[in-house]
Amino acid sequence: MIDSCSIENRGLISIEQALKKIEATVLPIQASERVILKKSLGRILATPVYSSINIPSDENSAMDGYAFSSQAILPDQSFSLTLAGTSWAGKPFDKALKKGQCIRIFTGAVIPENADSVIMQEHIQCKGNTILFPETTRAKENIRPIGSDINKNEILLAAKTRVTANNIGLLASAGIYDVAVKRKLNIAFLSTGDELIAIGQALQTGQIYDSNRYTLSALLSDSTLNASDLGVIADNKKILKETLLSASKTYDIIISTGGASVGEADYIHEVLEVLGDVSFWKIAIKPGKPLAFGKINNSYFFGLPGNPVSVISTFHKIVYPALQRLSGEAPVKKALQITAICTSHLKKMKGRQEYQRGILTQQESGEFVVSSAGKQGSNIMSAMSVANCYIVLPTDCKGVAAGEKVTVEPFAVLI
Ligand code: AMP
Ligand code: MG
Repeated sequence: MIDSCSIENRGLISIEQALKKIEATVLPIQASERVILKKSLGRILATPVYSSINIPSDENSAMDGYAFSSQAILPDQSFSLTLAGTSWAGKPFDKALKKGQCIRIFTGAVIPENADSVIMQEHIQCKGNTILFPETTRAKENIRPIGSDINKNEILLAAKTRVTANNIGLLASAGIYDVAVKRKLNIAFLSTGDELIAIGQALQTGQIYDSNRYTLSALLSDSTLNASDLGVIADNKKILKETLLSASKTYDIIISTGGASVGEADYIHEVLEVLGDVSFWKIAIKPGKPLAFGKINNSYFFGLPGNPVSVISTFHKIVYPALQRLSGEAPVKKALQITAICTSHLKKMKGRQEYQRGILTQQESGEFVVSSAGKQGSNIMSAMSVANCYIVLPTDCKGVAAGEKVTVEPFAVLI
């Protein structure tokens, strides 16, 4: 028996197949530039970074306390040493310790010659210049050896790493002034549709505000990208063709929204067939089935659906992995998946993998619980706006009853 659902789903490719095609087509950018450390956040390293120094480069104290020689320790007995001076962080005690001596020392201060141990200041008793060490005093504690964090010539960060705030801290501790990063990608985005007007104008009957360009502009705010807004293009084959051709001479990537299905006014398919090399059209995901991917000259082209929720989900699932790959980042990161108890009843038909919009919370017990964020239409931005995760329902799933376990992908958590 043929049902309408299976007819609708004919000729679909899976998301895995789509991503494989993208991987085969998209080649990581080669060009690089040097940027100072402060400007490297979120950029992709073009080369590995090595340390030219040991960290720490001096043996130093892990505590505020007293530095002494472990040879002074008496088995199961307390002992006294004479205070000979102080080693401050940045102002070392520059003499060698003599027998019977100890010094006051602060965290990060250099351990003087002949000392090999530090005792915490809370554990001693001080009588004038005499320091009484308890019988529990142990040898070689609270010392940070040379190179105990990083050794000279050791790798700090691998090539293809996206630089994080923590990475910047590491590089700064090694005195790295600047790094080689992949050049930024130049990316253009545009909307198509005669019904679209820009915000700031009053709506006439039949018109809607172009929300997709604003969403895309926000989604494309990334350190690896220079994004340009090409505006709204009317449903006119000639204008669309000219716009795409001219953009393909300037940009590494072009993203359009709308016009990608097979409606009468949907031109992207036709125009792209004349202009470039179309890779695929229908992916078995919901939202987001009609989608074009190809090349126009040297530009990669993504023709996303028009519906605003589909724009976001196809961006997350298809465009973002492609941008990561093109930017030179490796390995391409995937969304973190966790299991949660679903408290809503979820409707679903077999045939496509769905990314339903959910609200994920963690119970006091630690258990994850997810509920539907509301109506699941691909035009329903109110639910997308309050959602903080996708509830991923596999192709064969025919709905979820309240209380069942589901797979959830929190937004913006990539691993
Ligand atoms: P289309 O793919 O062009 O047929 O568009 C599908 C649906 O998405 C239609 O309801 C459009 O009005 C809507 N749509 C297309 N582009 C946008 C946009 N830029 N902002 C908001 N809605 C849009
Ligand atoms: Mg349209």
